[in-house]
Amino acid sequence: MAAAELQYPRTLMHKPLPCSRREFLATTSFAALAAAGGAGCSASRSAHRPSATAAPGPEPIIDIHQHTNYHGRTDDQMLAHQRAMGVAMTILLPAGSAVETPSTHMGKSNGLAAKTGGNQWCADFSYAHPNEFVFFANEVTDHELARKHCETFLIKGARGIGEQKFGVECDSKESQVLYELAAKYAVPVLLHFQEGTYNSGFKRLPKMFEKFPKTNFIMHAQTTWANIDANYDWKSLYPTGPVKRGGLTTKYLEDYPNCYADMSAGSGLNSLLRDEEHTRWFLEKHQDKIIYGSDCADTIGRGPGCQGGGTIAAIRKYAANKTVERKILCENARKMFDL
Ligand SMILES: [Zn+2]
Ligand SMILES: [Zn+2]
Repeated sequence: MAAAELQYPRTLMHKPLPCSRREFLATTSFAALAAAGGAGCSASRSAHRPSATAAPGPEPIIDIHQHTNYHGRTDDQMLAHQRAMGVAMTILLPAGSAVETPSTHMGKSNGLAAKTGGNQWCADFSYAHPNEFVFFANEVTDHELARKHCETFLIKGARGIGEQKFGVECDSKESQVLYELAAKYAVPVLLHFQEGTYNSGFKRLPKMFEKFPKTNFIMHAQTTWANIDANYDWKSLYPTGPVKRGGLTTKYLEDYPNCYADMSAGSGLNSLLRDEEHTRWFLEKHQDKIIYGSDCADTIGRGPGCQGGGTIAAIRKYAANKTVERKILCENARKMFDL
């Protein structure tokens, strides 16, 4: 946690949330927030509240990985979905600009390859729901205005950079510009690793951890989760079966204080379900480095029935104790993002 402690409290300028953290904590806890239907500094949001199947429970969950317009899902559906999963606070990750370059696979990967909304959409939704949503800043890594576009939204209050999901090498010079920008604003960068498609060069990632010690890196997606296994063959994106301890992901989490992992998506859930014994060990071992995220595209919000809900259930099932569970589902994110 050393790197995270170095980075907080944030000292750089950003637009304060409509409800300050101090005021927020004084007025309510997450639990009270949930019980009150989200009434922090203001109860005015209740008009937006759709009928969720279940309100957030007494143990709040922070979801650090969600998108607007995910495969065309409406804002109301997304809001209901998060509430149905029991999520008290969500981080919205924007897409970059729609461009036709090799880094977007000539446009095929625009909208993070899932039609997701961009910076302004995520910021506007967060401003409208300040007690439940915050946002990141993002841009296509090698867009000529990437740094400027990210900085614009960091100044507006973005809590990180990402989801970086573009066809570049993870140590490209353009990537490094954003890693440096993240350090300047004391925010993390969240990266989708899918070798050969997005942020390739996973084996070279340690050089970035070392070169940017003040930047927290949050690893996510297939290549991250396949590499919990020391025997990973770099073929399947969703490998199954027993896991041999000591894969690259474990090494990175263990060796670098500025390396974290986001448990989201089918790849994260797959990694939790493939080898029960390994999962129990892994969650305990990296209890301060793993952060819950859903990246769940489910439309209607089926609570425990959707992938995001399945990941929550798996963490609860395999965490060694309540302390480990709460760190992964809430406390690690609360610390990292000052929520
Ligand atoms: Zn992703
Ligand atoms: Zn995503």
